Amino acid sequence: MGNAKYKRVVLKLSGEALAGSEGFGINPSIIKSIAEQVKEVAELDVEVAVVVGGGNIWRGKVGSEMGMDRATADYMGMLATVMNSLALQDSLEQLGIETRVQTSIEMRQVAEPYIRRRAIRHLEKQRVVIFAAGTGNPYFSTDTTAALRAAEVEADVILMAKNNVDGVYNADPVKDKNAVKYETLSYLDVLKEGLEVMDSTASSLCMDNDIPLIVFSVMEKGNIKRAVMGETIGTIVRGK
Ligand code: UDP
Repeated sequence: MGNAKYKRVVLKLSGEALAGSEGFGINPSIIKSIAEQVKEVAELDVEVAVVVGGGNIWRGKVGSEMGMDRATADYMGMLATVMNSLALQDSLEQLGIETRVQTSIEMRQVAEPYIRRRAIRHLEKQRVVIFAAGTGNPYFSTDTTAALRAAEVEADVILMAKNNVDGVYNADPVKDKNAVKYETLSYLDVLKEGLEVMDSTASSLCMDNDIPLIVFSVMEKGNIKRAVMGETIGTIVRGK
């Protein structure tokens, strides 16, 4: 087990984190760097589940703003997460890490369906499990998926890897040079202040199920490992 603080983690990667500066699609060197960071953690015998977003390809909200039916647009978003998940699986396998993709929308030729007990079994066997297709339901997000799957597999923590910020601030650090980073926060603070950590459905789920969350930058190499080792990086959100 090594000295890792957390034994089982859910890593939430936004789609944007895979896109790099282009903001769209999948950047090969970025996905490789993320896969290397995941490998580093898996080699500490930490059980790693990953929830991947899809915002680098499609967001349901954009479609509905264009006049599309919201549910249809959301299903497109969920399919986008499957593409990202397969890309991450490929990168991890190229590094020799055993990986399984489980999708919430059945597509057996592509990946396993999501089966909770099987996912836990994979984790126990040190396979990295990638949860694709979100919750399988429109009107939800992959942040909520991370909270839900973390509760289901009894993960110790959610690691929210960001590409544009290194924690939670009281104002947008890009626009406001005086923005201050929080070291710790409660979920009630996040909800009351409307802080842009995750959506309120996801925050409530984490709060109600007592799942801590670490928000940090994945652009700095080694940060996933630092988070798992319990080093103080980014912002930790926990408790009421
Ligand atoms: N989505 C959904 N239900 C879910 C998860 C995702 O409908 O359970 C859709 C939603 O349209 C969302 C898109 O998939 O905009 C991509 O997910 P998300 O926006 O969470 O990705 P991220 O922002 O993390 O890249």
